Amino acid sequence: MSAAPSIDLHTHSTCSDGALSPAELVRQAAAAGIAMLALTDHDSVDGVAVAAEAAAAAGLQLVPGVEISALWHSQTVHVLGLWVDPQAAPLRVLLSAQAERRDVRMREICLRLERLRLPGAQLLAAVQAQPGLPTRSHLAQALVAGGHVRGVEDAFRKYLGAGKRAHVAATWPDLGQVVAAIHAAGGAASLAHPARYRLSRSARRRLLTAFAAAGGDALEVVSGGNGVQHAEASASWALEFGLAGSVGSDFHGPHQAWNPLGRYLKLPAGVRPLWQGRCGPSGAAN
Ligand code: AMP
Ligand code: MN
Ligand code: MN
Ligand code: MN
Repeated sequence: MSAAPSIDLHTHSTCSDGALSPAELVRQAAAAGIAMLALTDHDSVDGVAVAAEAAAAAGLQLVPGVEISALWHSQTVHVLGLWVDPQAAPLRVLLSAQAERRDVRMREICLRLERLRLPGAQLLAAVQAQPGLPTRSHLAQALVAGGHVRGVEDAFRKYLGAGKRAHVAATWPDLGQVVAAIHAAGGAASLAHPARYRLSRSARRRLLTAFAAAGGDALEVVSGGNGVQHAEASASWALEFGLAGSVGSDFHGPHQAWNPLGRYLKLPAGVRPLWQGRCGPSGAAN
């Protein structure tokens, strides 16, 4: 195992469904001893500039990033764009379309909730009052706050999860289009939490084949969202499909105490670290 205790390439802020502002996230990462941190909000690079400023002050290396929702056939997958130029036109065009899709989808979900005799308009207003792009996490939290469900998990299980009563099929762009936009912004594309998608073994192989064929660069071999037990399997896929590896906690906030910043992020031996050669003067190790 090559230790990577000081690297975390997958985190969220209030620019999507994270609990901490970009600046506070960077401060907490620095306090946790992280030397290289990627901010990867869902479909947004809005926090990158502030995070970079905070990182310069805290002496850590900020990797400008984003976690883009994409479709492979009808399966939603998440692609991390790392070291992207947030100003690149093709990326900005894609992300502004994503914001529009999210807005439309959130309205549709809330209409469905209304039909289920829940206060859809009120819930929509609560989501829209939050900073950042609207996600199902925000809506789940609004459902909890309104006393309509017992917890966030319950909200997904009853209403928001795939196939549940208020679920609305996503219209994300195709996987290949997303990888191309990341590359056009000078970034590297890593398929997030590859073990988390509910796919048969053969379907997962087809997904990995398609991702590699689209020019994908890496798999998120170690993901807080996956649990450590998936790292070895993900590592073997990375080797088989000729992909590098990234590591990330998928941190959403200190309220998820089981998933802190930078926890157990060691890349299994043999997998090429995506960050190799990208360590800056602040000296993030691999
Ligand atoms: P969205 O991108 O709007 O579809 O929202 C997806 C986000 O919702 C994910 O990034 C997670 O943070 C969260 N999420 C998805 N499924 C669940 C679940 N079953 N329980 C809790 N949070 C979830
Ligand atoms: Mn999320
Ligand atoms: Mn994700
Ligand atoms: Mn994430």
